[in-house]
Formats: sequence, structure tokens, C-alpha cells
Amino acid sequence: DWTYLIHTYIFSSFLGMSLCYVIDRQHRENYLQNCIIEITQKEISDQAQLLEELSLLDPLTGLANRRYLNRILEAEWTLAIKQQEPISIIMLDIDYFKNYNDSLGHISGDSCLQSIAVALKNITNNHSEIAARYGGEEFLLVFPQTSKEKAEEIANLILYSIKNLEIKHPNSPICTNITVSLGVVTTIPKPNDLLHEFIEEADKKLYDAKKLGRNQYQISQQNNVII
Ligand code: GH3
Ligand code: MG
Ligand code: MG
Repeated sequence: DWTYLIHTYIFSSFLGMSLCYVIDRQHRENYLQNCIIEITQKEISDQAQLLEELSLLDPLTGLANRRYLNRILEAEWTLAIKQQEPISIIMLDIDYFKNYNDSLGHISGDSCLQSIAVALKNITNNHSEIAARYGGEEFLLVFPQTSKEKAEEIANLILYSIKNLEIKHPNSPICTNITVSLGVVTTIPKPNDLLHEFIEEADKKLYDAKKLGRNQYQISQQNNVII
């Protein structure tokens, strides 16, 4: 029966085509879904990375925040102990910054902090050295594998760079421009030395620089090591 045969042929061809279409469509849908999943996963990981970065940066200056600083400092301190190499830190505080805010307003104060942050960032090499906002108008800079002599050079460079910004300070008893004071400290840490004591020493030297007239650095070398 030819008619029956032709009908069966047409029906099975149609069925075959339909099946191919459904299977092909399923494959395409699966492929698209996989693409969407991949894109979403990438977006999530990008956002997580951004969040991680933001949680490590100070929002006003874009410098490392205290959290990031602690992470780097601990790692570099441990490395300095292991390799018995010098590490230097510089604690920086803006001179008469309260007067600056009182004279020009808090917004100008914020811009000043941002300009100083840029100058400090330019002084570090962006790899192992970092400049961090320690709090308020205080910054801490870390220089691994840096001797006392090199740290002194960097301190002079910081004083020079900040003065060179020529940010006018209308109410500073010591200078017509914004100035900073620095506490510098270098050590080759021993295994039992404490990082927080090292930081405290930088703070003490900063205090000395303030007492001795500001716009200068004071330096200390721990452990009486010849570096
Ligand atoms: P010194 O030379 O002894 O350091 O005097 P100083 O006036 O700088 O120090 P003091 O601790 O008396 O004042 C610090 C000022 O820094 C007070 C505070 O308003 C200002 N400050 C801290 N954080 C910020 C900030 O994020 N933005 C602005 N605009 N000002 C800030
Ligand atoms: Mg201060
Ligand atoms: Mg100050």
C-alpha cells in the first residue's frame, strides 16, 4: 500500500525532524545557561574582589587602611626576622592641622589630606613599600629591606615633597605652607622583638620631632645594630 508507506515515511521523517529540533534546542539552551552561569560567577568574583579591595583602602585618600597596613607590616616583620634584614617605618603627622581646618574648613582639610596622600604614594615603590593612613591626619610608611641611612634619605624626601606641594597654611606658627613631622625607626628584628614596640618607637620619635619644633624628622635605631 503506497499511500500507507508514504504517510508512514512522512510521519517518521517529521517525527525525526521534531526530535532533532528538540534535542538541538535543549543543547543550545544548556549552552546558553552555562554561559549565563559563567558570567554570573565572574561578576560575583569581580564584586568580591572589589569589596575586598575597598575593605583594605581608606575611602578618603585611597591609601591602605589600618587593616591592610597591619597585614603588610606583620608579613614584612616576619620576613625581616627570618632574613635578618633591616626594616624601617616612618610615622607622619601633619603640623597644626587643627588650625588649618579651623581657618579653611573641613573640606579644604580633606583635600589637603588627599594631596599629601598622593605625595606619599609617589614616594613608595608600590611593591613591598606602602603608605597607609594610620588615622586622622597621621600616616605610616613601611620600607622593608631599608637601612637607617636610606630611611633618613626618604624622610628628607618626604619633608621636601610635602613642602613642595605648597599648600598654604594661613595659621601655622612655623611656616606659610603645610608641613609635617616624622618619626623614623629602623631595626633588624630578633625573633622575640615585638612589632607593636617598634611602632611605638616611631610614635615616640614623632613626638620628639613635634617637641623640637615640628617640620622635621627624628630617627631611632633599635637594638644598637650597625646597619
Ligand atoms: P600638631 O602639630 O601637634 O600635630 O597639631 P594638630 O593641630 O595637627 O593636632 P591635633 O591632634 O590637635 O589636631 C588634629 C586635627 O586633625 C583635628 C581634626 O579635626 C583633624 N582631622 C583628623 N582627621 C581628619 C579628616 O579626615 N579630615 C579633616 N579635614 N580633618 C581631620
Ligand atoms: Mg595627630
Ligand atoms: Mg597634627
